[in-house]
Amino acid sequence: MSEKHLPLSKKKIEKIINDFPTPFHLYDEKAILENARALKDAYAWNDGYKEFFAVKATPNPYLIKLLHREGFGVDCSSLAELIIAEKTGITGEEIMFSSNDTPANEFIKARELNATINLDDITHIAYLEKHAGLPGLICCRYNPGPLKKGNFIIGHPEEAKYGFTREQLFAGYKICKEKGIKRFGIHTMVASNELNANYFVETAEILFNVVAEISQKLNIRFEFVNLSGGVGIPYHPDQKRIDLAAMSRGVKAKYDEIIVANGLGPIKIYTECGRYITGPYGYLVSRVLHIKDTYKKFAGLDACMANLMRPALYGAYHHITVVGKENKPSNFVYDVTGSLCENNDKFAIDRALPELTPGDIVVIHDTGAHGYAMGFNYNGKLRSAELLLRENGDVVQIRRAETVDDYLATLDFAGLDSFR
Ligand SMILES: *Cc1c(COP(=O)(O)O)cnc(C)c1O
Repeated sequence: MSEKHLPLSKKKIEKIINDFPTPFHLYDEKAILENARALKDAYAWNDGYKEFFAVKATPNPYLIKLLHREGFGVDCSSLAELIIAEKTGITGEEIMFSSNDTPANEFIKARELNATINLDDITHIAYLEKHAGLPGLICCRYNPGPLKKGNFIIGHPEEAKYGFTREQLFAGYKICKEKGIKRFGIHTMVASNELNANYFVETAEILFNVVAEISQKLNIRFEFVNLSGGVGIPYHPDQKRIDLAAMSRGVKAKYDEIIVANGLGPIKIYTECGRYITGPYGYLVSRVLHIKDTYKKFAGLDACMANLMRPALYGAYHHITVVGKENKPSNFVYDVTGSLCENNDKFAIDRALPELTPGDIVVIHDTGAHGYAMGFNYNGKLRSAELLLRENGDVVQIRRAETVDDYLATLDFAGLDSFR
């Protein structure tokens, strides 16, 4: 069981709504920092362990700055994410550039920032060399294919578009070595939102084994093994948190058995968690606009898919709390919807909740990662503000809400006058 409670009283939430109209995402700084420290502590056995926060999960420079202060780097996969890192004061090997189907200008920017480049494909060695020049340190992304069973969001590794095959991995490092690259890392990401600690232990074992083989065969030394992200969070109250200690212990056992025993150490363990770091500590705060009673009961919120896509995209469960009605019986059943002209714009289907009335404050849990970030503007819907609950209880706006002017900014209405 994982408890779903709010970090704030009803009174405090009402006060915040007074200053910042709903909907908005609210992040809990204290909880995020405690969680970040727990991850670091779990891997403290590994000298040089570093987490590269996956910017795509929550691309807000304020959160990234807090995490950077804890020693985290960033994992970027686009030009915009690289620029966010740069503007947050993060450069060099504190940036892991894990992209795919990468355009030349992104490689150029990554090289300009001296980011560590994690190649997604063997052909990208030549492409990178041609467009941006080869760096002194390179990482390749391994797709273990049938060696590894997939999970729900990413699917079977063989079907995934990411990474080098095993043969390509050997060939790729050989090419890199021949081209004079002397520093090496390896990466894989085969799961998303995985709660089973053992899954990551198995993944580490696969990587450590391939590191041992490649090191021997090509006579190269690996500096780091990047286990990437994909560590899950319990969206549903019936789910349990991943056992971080068990995961780390398991990875260490494999590290000792394969890396240390073969004299390949020390190798730094890197991770690129996004969801795990901020996911549980973000809340989408919204109000009930309308209650509609037709063939079903619908509770229409002032938030919509533009603010949180996961339920519509993956049928994902997000827990919902009705502020001030936490102790009322959940004896009504609602589809909780947004206002988009898309019938899948529903935060919950057939959800048992206390009786709702317009004006009720509804909090959607676990929106701290892949929440705001996935938002889109379909139907002219606007993305909300992002607020941060500071450790001292203050609430600050770390991103303003979009306006209709933002939405219209790419259109040239003046040009209509001469357009016949
Ligand atoms: C999405 C992604 C991550 C982060 O995934 P989470 O599920 O948020 O931990 C890390 N690395 C890469 C390459 C990714 O694509």
